[in-house]
Amino acid sequence: MMRATSLFLLWVSCVFGAPVSKDRQKLLLISFDGFRWDYDRDVDTPNLDQMAKDGVKAQYVTPPYLTITSPSHFTILTGRYIENHGVIHNMWFNTTTTEKKPYYQSQFVNEWWDNGSLPIWITAQRQGLKAGSLHFPGTASSYQGQVAMVQEVEPLLYNYKNETAWRENSDKVMSWFRDRDLDFVSLYFGEPDGVGHKYGPDSPERREMVRQVDRTVGYIRHSAEHHGLTDQLNVIITADHGMSTVFRNGLVEEITLSKIPGFSFRDLSFHLLDYGPSGMLLPKPGKLDGVYNTLKGAHPHLHVYKKEEMPEHLHYSKNDRILPIILWADPGYVINGYFPVQFNKGEHGYDNQEMDMKPFFRAVGPAFQKNLEVGPFETVNIYPLMCHILGIQPEVNDGHLSVTKHMLVISDSRGSGGKVGVSCEVEGMVIQVSASGAAEAETMKTTTTCRLMRLAKRIFYLPRNRI
Ligand SMILES: [Zn+2]
Repeated sequence: MMRATSLFLLWVSCVFGAPVSKDRQKLLLISFDGFRWDYDRDVDTPNLDQMAKDGVKAQYVTPPYLTITSPSHFTILTGRYIENHGVIHNMWFNTTTTEKKPYYQSQFVNEWWDNGSLPIWITAQRQGLKAGSLHFPGTASSYQGQVAMVQEVEPLLYNYKNETAWRENSDKVMSWFRDRDLDFVSLYFGEPDGVGHKYGPDSPERREMVRQVDRTVGYIRHSAEHHGLTDQLNVIITADHGMSTVFRNGLVEEITLSKIPGFSFRDLSFHLLDYGPSGMLLPKPGKLDGVYNTLKGAHPHLHVYKKEEMPEHLHYSKNDRILPIILWADPGYVINGYFPVQFNKGEHGYDNQEMDMKPFFRAVGPAFQKNLEVGPFETVNIYPLMCHILGIQPEVNDGHLSVTKHMLVISDSRGSGGKVGVSCEVEGMVIQVSASGAAEAETMKTTTTCRLMRLAKRIFYLPRNRI
């Protein structure tokens, strides 16, 4: 006991102090909003095909529920399920004032985003790396007082489908990597989500937009080469959700809450409705069971859940921001409030087990194997993979590196060759710990050495030949 106490009080010094290596690998994370996993099946996509040959392709990936833009992107950036990161909807809302803000305006509500989980930009910067973000959801907010070192937020009413702007933005992030020596950048494109909503996922307009995405992927890879980044730069391309065709014009019996016998908006103090296939209700005091029982079973394609009864696999329950009653519709349907006001031909927001909600995933670069197709995995696992490639210690998250590690080259040739190394001198005795990556380092958290290490609060990334 005496010895343990004295150990805590002892001089703990870290012997190796090599910081970030100059030749460590870089990482570009790209999201093409709403790019469904199978969008390359009915369109020629030579550049995406080439990327798969040169790297890794997943059959598909599973987004978190609720399958909408801001919540799902924040899962990619944090590795946390939505109930854990707290960005539970595209729309910020206040149930007391009944105020709501749409998607774009919600980007600027700091407390909506900054509520405990750190996006990878901040974690990378705290560990000595440089991070940037262009248009990626979450970019406009600060986190515990910090923002991405280089950030660009799109203006209101931005044209998300302009191919020339896509190329300019691609060149811009490549110059950030080359001229400002950034280690990590997240880059967002607002399509093919837009055309998927407007024309439907089976439309010629969607297929044409996929051709534009494919040309852009080719352009991005060419731009990386032009900027001299090919040997250093890893590129992950994925999306936040898929898209599903909405049935209308008398083909189906639409879901409109006001038409359900016994249901009254007077029993609610707040609601989020008319937002695709999902909805949330806050009944007035004493009205919860009444509203629930009225809606449950009222339409064969409407699912009604009390928050605490939500299916476990959706991970959409344990957060104060989630309202007491959650509604979602089967594919093909949307949920209307008073009367139908939604006329999109495609929607997302459905159960994340629906194949139409699954996004695509591709990765290429020095960290990744070549010509490898892997099975599906959840997008919470992208975060620990990114941390591993960057050689940074992840925050607490819901993903596992073991799910994606087989995509990486066997020698784990991260640019610095960087092992996470810790070496502490305690009472004249040097204790050395090394791990081949952040995940292994994480498992060492429970060891006495690493408790001491955490006391010392010093983790160093060492060139491989020094361990
Ligand atoms: Zn989206």
